[in-house]
Amino acid sequence: MSAPQEMSFRESVDMMFNRAVALMDLPPGLEEKIRVCNATYTVRFGVRLRGKIQTFTGYRSVHSEHMEPVKGGIRFSMGVNQDEVEALAALMTYKCSLVEAPFGGSKGGLCIDPRQYDEHELELITRRFAYELIKRDLINPSQNVPAPDMGTGEREMAWIADQYARMNTTDINAKACVTGKPLNAGGIAGRVEATGRGVQYALREFFRDELGMQKAGLTGGLEGKRVVVQGLGNVGYHATKFLSEEDGCKIIGIIERDGALVDADGLNVDAVQQWIAKHGGVAGYPDASFIEDGAKVLEEECDILIPAALEGVINITNADRIKAPLIIEAANGPVTAGGDEILRDKGTVIIPDMYANAGGVTVSYFEWVKNLSHIRFGRMQRRQEESRHQLVVDELERLSSDSGIGWELSPNFKDRYLRGADELELVRSGLDDTMRIAYQSMREVWHGRDDVKDLRTAAYLVSIEKVAASYRAKGL
Ligand code: NAD
Repeated sequence: MSAPQEMSFRESVDMMFNRAVALMDLPPGLEEKIRVCNATYTVRFGVRLRGKIQTFTGYRSVHSEHMEPVKGGIRFSMGVNQDEVEALAALMTYKCSLVEAPFGGSKGGLCIDPRQYDEHELELITRRFAYELIKRDLINPSQNVPAPDMGTGEREMAWIADQYARMNTTDINAKACVTGKPLNAGGIAGRVEATGRGVQYALREFFRDELGMQKAGLTGGLEGKRVVVQGLGNVGYHATKFLSEEDGCKIIGIIERDGALVDADGLNVDAVQQWIAKHGGVAGYPDASFIEDGAKVLEEECDILIPAALEGVINITNADRIKAPLIIEAANGPVTAGGDEILRDKGTVIIPDMYANAGGVTVSYFEWVKNLSHIRFGRMQRRQEESRHQLVVDELERLSSDSGIGWELSPNFKDRYLRGADELELVRSGLDDTMRIAYQSMREVWHGRDDVKDLRTAAYLVSIEKVAASYRAKGL
């Protein structure tokens, strides 16, 4: 018997899609229309660096335009290829649909190791890549709006926004051409933390789902739960920081490129992050044990496993040794279709990527709306809200003194009640609401249908149904 073969990332996504549509009743042809990737543009361009021209290869893939603009991050990594961007673009379609962000799916990537270039060189490369995409409307506020992903962040998004503005000097909505920008360049409070914050909100909602907890064999709350994370980048860092500082989780393992750190008493996420920033890896960190074969730590005994680095890390070669009863896919595609099947058979509960890491695109949606409305959230109503609250507090205090009861509002209550919401609070509230509602829509299908055994299939069912409805509304 031949050894089981692992599929490519795109085949994995298609296979999970096919598994879900087999349970649906879509008209012939529509299923394929939704599954296929509409277009992928490949660009090769040269940049003069260090005295010679270097050629780079980049992609922008558009999976589905049932809603426009289409949306999806731009990744800088040596692993970027057409198969990967197409898989990621497809996931974006399903993700946006699931969390009701009104976008189609897209994704971009540049085949580059950003650590090999200094800031000025990276700016030249990013601007040139952006130029190539902008001139083909593959970056455009009403057609295609990128965001950060692996290897990119606020800095790259600011360069892209500026490049677009230079090439479209009369476009009043120019800033909405990309999200994940720094605050001073049209960004929104809470975008940098958004994906990690969304992972935290997703876990909180999961822990409110009694039946889901039973299926995972977990009890109690998040307090004291043992967490292993892979990748302490934007997503992994914020998720574990919030889970440890606000929910009492213990981060017992952190896996990075050069190895892993473990400490049964819990690691200090900030201290580890600062160590990585200074030394380029986790090796040598003084307050934990170092394990050179980092991937082995995925198999560590823990309550929650958070793969937050790259795709395909849990697959047919290691899935049967994963001990965590609950995996939350903070990265895109960390579990292959083969790995997924093994874990499902074992009863492991997987909170799927299209939901788990949707916090990023959700807050990107808020940023895009902010850019189009040209006003910061909360600017109009915050002080009015505060003065109305002040009225209530004054009245309560007057009643208390007039009636002689002598009640006194606790200062803590007064401060919290009187303060109107700023942009960050509004963003977090909108994100929390989005993550709760999306989970509830999956939960209904997961617990309500006998033929749906896992959250991933439930997520696909909910999202494909919505994509299909918008195609139907267009007459397709
Ligand atoms: P990032 O570049 O900030 O962080 C990635 C981290 O993973 C880095 O710390 C890197 O050193 C580490 N890493 C790389 N290879 C590794 C390996 N082999 N083993 C262990 N660690 C390794 O990227 P990010 O933005 O945090 O994205 C991580 C994942 O989350 C990706 O799959 C991305 O598509 C997904 N995601 C990101 C966002 C976002 O808003 N940034 C949104 C949705 C999904």
